[in-house]
Amino acid sequence: MSTSAPERISAIDAARARRETPGCAEVVHLNNAGAALMPAPVLDRVVSHLRLEARIGGYEAAAREAAAIEAVYSSAARMLGCDPGEIALVDSATRAWMTAFYAIPFRPGDRILTSSAEYASNFIAYLQLAQRYDLSVEVVPNDESGQLSVLALRELIDDRVRLISLTHIPTNGGLVNPAAEVGQVAREAGVLYLLDACQSAGQLPLDVEAIGCDLLSITGRKYLRGPRGTGLLYVRREVLDDLSPPMLDLHSATWVARDRYEVRPDARRFETWESNIAAGLGLGAALDYAMGWGLAAIRDRVYQLGEDLRERLSDLPGIRVHDIGRERCGIVTFTAAGMPPLQVKELLAGHGVNVSVTRTPSTRLDMEARGLEELVRASVHYYNADADLDLLCRILRDRNR
Ligand SMILES: *Cc1c(COP(=O)(O)O)cnc(C)c1O
Repeated sequence: MSTSAPERISAIDAARARRETPGCAEVVHLNNAGAALMPAPVLDRVVSHLRLEARIGGYEAAAREAAAIEAVYSSAARMLGCDPGEIALVDSATRAWMTAFYAIPFRPGDRILTSSAEYASNFIAYLQLAQRYDLSVEVVPNDESGQLSVLALRELIDDRVRLISLTHIPTNGGLVNPAAEVGQVAREAGVLYLLDACQSAGQLPLDVEAIGCDLLSITGRKYLRGPRGTGLLYVRREVLDDLSPPMLDLHSATWVARDRYEVRPDARRFETWESNIAAGLGLGAALDYAMGWGLAAIRDRVYQLGEDLRERLSDLPGIRVHDIGRERCGIVTFTAAGMPPLQVKELLAGHGVNVSVTRTPSTRLDMEARGLEELVRASVHYYNADADLDLLCRILRDRNR
């Protein structure tokens, strides 16, 4: 039996977090791994910039807010422990990941080492370049807990390994992969390391030095609570010139003579000129807002709520939790006997409770290995209340009445 959450869970003032989240008055939101509810300061930042654009013009608004736009890079750098020149602001985690991945100068015979938790988009890109460059894509086995086996990774290293590419927190399964231990292997071997931190950003502290990654991709809308259509890429300064951006424009490069261009010296060579400035400023507000709570405090509460939910669900008849890994996050996946995941989602939606359904094509290797096809995914955030979990569990318990 769970005791009441607030006194047991971290330093976060959940009541304040809820007051600052307009959506908490409307829905019970347990789809934070899909898109979390924006807090008021994020929403206000986006809307106020759109209003400014409408009033004085888009270019003029950007000029007036130039310092604030620069500050978004500084906020991202502060959160990740890097330099602002190592940040590119883009429109999604996929865009960030892809521009980095397709910039790697692969040679025939190169090996890519990856995880069984890999996100579909990443794996599709491996397959495409594997065909194009005759690469070998190899999946590092998991250990008995379900996380990537660092031991097995170490044994796979040789001088043909060009890239270690890992999903930190997969879209399903609750798992947190050992990103920093992998970073140690990558550094010792001198191998490029790309981390998909899409689900971890905003959920736990991410320090690129501690992790040891060279490239890291993040989305704005998930645990960071930013607006949709935002993402960012971190590129370690030392690897910047080894990469060739797959696309260049007049922002990422300058046309300096009829037959010559010069690429920007910083990570913004991975951006394009046009961007949604309002959304970018909203992302900055989300980064600042998350750091205001503290990423360690956020992690503690999210992990605790996740554990509470797993325990409660496991106590319900016919409910089976399917999470794996040693370290488990706020993403909780389960099935309900006699009710397909989509029907569970619709039942919950009828009571104002948002969850999502995760299917094989999103994380095929993992789902197939575990003999799963579809799971309900309830992903908690620090602003979720104990009452949210109560309601979810009550609906599930009474589902056949
Ligand atoms: C959601 C997700 C992505 C894609 O993020 P977008 O912002 O939608 O591009 C990438 N990797 C993982 C692990 C994800 O969960």
